[in-house]
Amino acid sequence: GDDSEGERESVKTICSHCAVGCGLKMVVENDALVGQEAWTDHPINQGGLCSKGASLTQTVNSERRLKEPMKKEDGEWVRLDWDEAMAEVADELTRVREEYGPDSTMWMGSAKIATEEAYLFRKLAAFYGTNNVDHQARICHSTTVAGLAATWGFGAMTQSVNDVANADANLIIGHNPAEAHPVMMRYVQEAKRNGGTVIVAEPRFSKTAAHADIFARFRPGTDIAFINGLLYHIVYTLEAHDEDFLESRVYDWERVKETIADYDLETVEDITWVPVETLEEVAEALVDADVSSVEWSMGSTQHTVGTQNIRSYAILNLALGHTGQPGGGNNPVRGHDNVQGATDMCILSHNLPGYYGLGQGAWEHWTNVWDQSPQTSGSITYDEMRERFESQELMEKNGLTVSRWFEGALDDDERKGALYQPEQVKALVVWGHSLNSLSEMKRVKEALENVEIVIGVDPFPGVHGALPEREDGIILLPAATNHESEGSVTDTSRSVQWRYQAVTPRHNSRQDFELLTDLADRLGFGEHFDYDSVEDVLREINLGVRSIGLIGQTPERIKAHMENSHVFDPETRQAEVTDDHDLAGEFWGLPWPCWHDEHPGTPILYRDDVHPEEGGHDFRANWGPEAPDGESMLRAPYEPDWWDGEVEGVPQYPAYTTVLPDPETPAAKTIPIEYALSEDRSVYDAAVALAEDGYDVDPEEFEAFDNPQPDAPTGRGRARAAVWDQPDEVPVHREPVETPRPDLIDEYPN
Ligand code: SF4
Repeated sequence: GDDSEGERESVKTICSHCAVGCGLKMVVENDALVGQEAWTDHPINQGGLCSKGASLTQTVNSERRLKEPMKKEDGEWVRLDWDEAMAEVADELTRVREEYGPDSTMWMGSAKIATEEAYLFRKLAAFYGTNNVDHQARICHSTTVAGLAATWGFGAMTQSVNDVANADANLIIGHNPAEAHPVMMRYVQEAKRNGGTVIVAEPRFSKTAAHADIFARFRPGTDIAFINGLLYHIVYTLEAHDEDFLESRVYDWERVKETIADYDLETVEDITWVPVETLEEVAEALVDADVSSVEWSMGSTQHTVGTQNIRSYAILNLALGHTGQPGGGNNPVRGHDNVQGATDMCILSHNLPGYYGLGQGAWEHWTNVWDQSPQTSGSITYDEMRERFESQELMEKNGLTVSRWFEGALDDDERKGALYQPEQVKALVVWGHSLNSLSEMKRVKEALENVEIVIGVDPFPGVHGALPEREDGIILLPAATNHESEGSVTDTSRSVQWRYQAVTPRHNSRQDFELLTDLADRLGFGEHFDYDSVEDVLREINLGVRSIGLIGQTPERIKAHMENSHVFDPETRQAEVTDDHDLAGEFWGLPWPCWHDEHPGTPILYRDDVHPEEGGHDFRANWGPEAPDGESMLRAPYEPDWWDGEVEGVPQYPAYTTVLPDPETPAAKTIPIEYALSEDRSVYDAAVALAEDGYDVDPEEFEAFDNPQPDAPTGRGRARAAVWDQPDEVPVHREPVETPRPDLIDEYPN
């Protein structure tokens, strides 16, 4: 810190509360965080912040922080010093590895840490010898990545946040930016002020819907039918699809046309409950637009058919020919500030950094990078890496996911429809992840009782809130917050920004970078993690992540952007750096792909004026022939093989929405959707209706079920009620989920 008493400085930083990527300045005095200031020429938010971003100092200065390394021993919390704590963690992980093998540890990582830390986390799991490594993106936008990548090639936003202001029509579906991403909402409103149409489609009347020109309220789970109805009207009635675009850039359009032929608007009204007139109005607004943008979030992705939902949005945009130009595109809006970065680094059980997969070629690529990296002293071959795994098979096999890991920690009696082998997981590392965010908490809690050791690394003791009352086997390490660390973060628009450290870590917390390299060292592979700085980690990433073009975003270039002003390109509305003539023409944050260290970045994907031979990307969208089963993936949601057919009075359409028990379980049946999903019906009301009609449901059980406001007109629980006709057999969420309470904090003798 600065020892000149009373001197204030402003440190540029990036908000850590959502993925829009707003900039601000932290006011620091004598290494204390004393306030926040507007970063008025930051291109994304131009000084504005929402209420979350305006309260960042409260996170750093919170009294609820975990302040010291702690361990639970004989029912009592004991304070450890750092050396003891790290030694215990390393000893436990080494013991578990030796006794049960490397696949006995689950590494649960985070989208809240910087890209460099996310990369180190994935690399650490690889050196430990397991693919049991995953993070929050599995339960938020994994279906987006699968759906978009299968359509376009890249699984990310095609535009930038600012660029939605250029759209003549914004179709916002399963997404509530007015509350979740307020600074993005300001660009939606700007589009509206410029004469554009705002269309909000979702089951709830949200704050975003209050700003809509057209609000299409549809039944949960009927997204695809809704989109297919729009496509039917655009293609068969208005004949307004972009034939040139489809001819030149899209494979297998004929098969899509065949599929949507069944979706005349009367049928779609039956399925979705959206009136024919509204469907016509939406389709016509999209056709009238020169360019349109589709934006979505968890309301679209967290479905059993999430991937197909996202594919249908992409197909709509293809039919209109709007993607690949300013104001037009497909835009998944991410939640945590670095979901894109952590996903790119593949804290994922089925990928190595850069989405390389787990095949032999992927491992050869990365062992080669780790062998050659000038940033570390270690050398390793593919064969040496394979020895860390128990076999080649395990090296190439998908690991456990955050959404299902717990099955690997249950014994046979507690498992229903489990994917993973029983009693496999003995150690759980929870690094910046809230266990309370998981579904099936009852089984999660059983699993947490079964494992031998839980290691939590977090600025807050939230991990503990989900833990059962165990006498020992818990170690908590206090991590520094985002503003006590530094590193790069990738916002939802693929732009990379540098988050400078504002103050030194509070209390006795340590930075994730430091903890990860220290732990690697204690586990015996420190020579592969002996980086001099966070910047060096990014240099290694630049070396290895060729696939999505994370090549030209060097620490020097990103930091130079942070120091400079910008202008908006009038055509693309992308922020270009201006002050330093060496940077002129570069786009803010060098959005990936950025193919080399003079590449300007790619704010808009799939432009038709940038061809692969000129360093661009193959913009051809495709589906059908490339689907794994050789069939059009578009069809998959309509006839899943476990779907048990007709329900009287309900069209042949899966009546499920968000969280569905595993298809293998007996509980995975559907009931007539209208029991739960009529206009103003809560979980409790739905359960009452079910009981009245003879279903074996006790409404009182649903009153408190996972929905703190049973009388609220909307809520996650409604969807679940819709899929259960055998509540006694349902293996999930039968008890209210406990969340950490403030009084838990008092348990710590900090
Ligand atoms: Fe932070 Fe997101 Fe709000 Fe911007 S919109 S201030 S990034 S929480």
